[in-house]
Amino acid sequence: MNTEEIQHIRADFPILEEKIYNKDLIYFDNGATTQKPCCVVEKIENGYYHLNANIHRGVHFLSQKATEEHEAARTTVADFLGAKKREEIIFTRGTTEAINLVATSFGEVFCEKGDEIVISVMEHHSNIVPWQMLCERKGLVLRVIQMNDKGELDIQNFKTLLNPKTRIVSVTHVSNVLGTVNPVAEIIKIAHEQNIPVLVDGAQAVPHVKVNVTELDADFYVFSGHKIYGPTGIGALYGKEKWLNQMPPYQGGGEMIQTVTFEKTTYNELPFKFEAGTPDYIGSTALAEALRYVEKIGISNIAAYEHELLVYGTQRLMEIDGMRIIGTATEKSSVISFLVDEIHPYDIGILLDKLGIAVRTGHHCAQPLIDSLGIPGTVRASFAFYNTKEEIDNFVAALKRVVTMLS
Ligand code: PMP
Repeated sequence: MNTEEIQHIRADFPILEEKIYNKDLIYFDNGATTQKPCCVVEKIENGYYHLNANIHRGVHFLSQKATEEHEAARTTVADFLGAKKREEIIFTRGTTEAINLVATSFGEVFCEKGDEIVISVMEHHSNIVPWQMLCERKGLVLRVIQMNDKGELDIQNFKTLLNPKTRIVSVTHVSNVLGTVNPVAEIIKIAHEQNIPVLVDGAQAVPHVKVNVTELDADFYVFSGHKIYGPTGIGALYGKEKWLNQMPPYQGGGEMIQTVTFEKTTYNELPFKFEAGTPDYIGSTALAEALRYVEKIGISNIAAYEHELLVYGTQRLMEIDGMRIIGTATEKSSVISFLVDEIHPYDIGILLDKLGIAVRTGHHCAQPLIDSLGIPGTVRASFAFYNTKEEIDNFVAALKRVVTMLS
């Protein structure tokens, strides 16, 4: 994408014009959440102004229209992920809720005392803690795939962890700290040779990498709307029908039932069995709008441009004395975690903020990874397609000032 195209795209994101302490905002915290284009905000506004009525079962016009839009959004998500059936898409609050759903419900029927769950050293807390909770409840063992010095998963090590007691493998597609794009197709193939299902945490992948769950043969794939230019509080779980049909409901309530008596309740079919209560039907339609927006630009165009930003940003940052980039995988998305000498990442983050630059500092909800690296945390700059090389230049200039002040 050329400069003119990027400027055109930037005009869709009014927040990028904000001044922070009288400085131009440079938003490099896209790994935490992305900004929203006007079409997404307008979809939410329009939904509440013109389309608001509780969905499903309503006989009146607004309810039926809202139901149609919500169900059309499900189809959009299914198509976006390359799912074969729209019923395999469950709306959730996001990645975290989707993983909790699988850990709880899959764990309930498929795991017994002594069984094992495999995750990796670079997981976000949301792909660690739900499994740990399951392990505590059921007496299971958590096994962890290690990585090499570049921050790439050790596939040989992974193979040694699999055995007849392994019930599920749950790994991130892209690391939110290191930017590593994991070889999930290979991981799935290896696990499937032993009939072990795989959940892929796609929170950091879907905004940057073309995903096709059918080609990947993923058993579960999860993501959050807010990291792909959609609203907060909505995300999705893709699950193969064969698993979802065997799993019990996650929560009970309205919508997920077929019949209820005080003696016995029967459950609704997919996907409703897993969607208890009034769903976020405004959020789902706005998420679908975000996915259409991304597809209009094209994931391959986005990936190519963000790769340019990654290469340029890495090169420029390496000009700084004492710069240490954490995560140098060959396959990497547009995330740069770094440390400069012994300066604490928090101090860098605080001073960059005063210059209008939003980066994230700390353990990035991946404390075991940070601990395994023996570092206090990192400063993380994560780019989106609306960022520019000029912003990177201004960021590097600001960082040089900050480093001089703190050295
Ligand atoms: N997994 C990864 C890799 C993430 O980066 C994040 C968000 N930082 C999550 C899971 C959790 O996403 P959410 O908070 O939207 O549920």
